Amino acid sequence: MSHLQRTCMHCNRPLVGRADRKFCSTACRTAHHNQLHPNKDVEIQKIIKILKKNRKLLKYFSPNGKTTIRRSTLSDLGYDFRYFTHVYKPQSSNPYYLCFDYGIMVISNEKCLIVNYQPYMEEKFWSPYP
Ligand SMILES: [Zn+2]
Repeated sequence: MSHLQRTCMHCNRPLVGRADRKFCSTACRTAHHNQLHPNKDVEIQKIIKILKKNRKLLKYFSPNGKTTIRRSTLSDLGYDFRYFTHVYKPQSSNPYYLCFDYGIMVISNEKCLIVNYQPYMEEKFWSPYP
């Protein structure tokens, strides 16, 4: 059986081994991936991952309606309070920090309230140009 010599998709060195191999090494596979997805995208993906995790936790603890929860419960499970998508600022209470369609309002140093996005919030999203 004869066939064309297959080569690494990154460095073009000849490939040996399994027929479906595309790279000669893990290093070449990673280098090729990084070429296709530059660091910028990696940064974006990292932040999206954090936001999605935050949302997942909020949804888990409060699938519908408001739920009070200890801050430590969320942070122990990996909630990252530094990341959110937008801020709803009611006149009479602390801001709501939303992760997509779920958010939290800080009640005290130890407790927060999980809230669900409501259409009326839209008008009062915080903006640097009110
Ligand atoms: Zn290679």
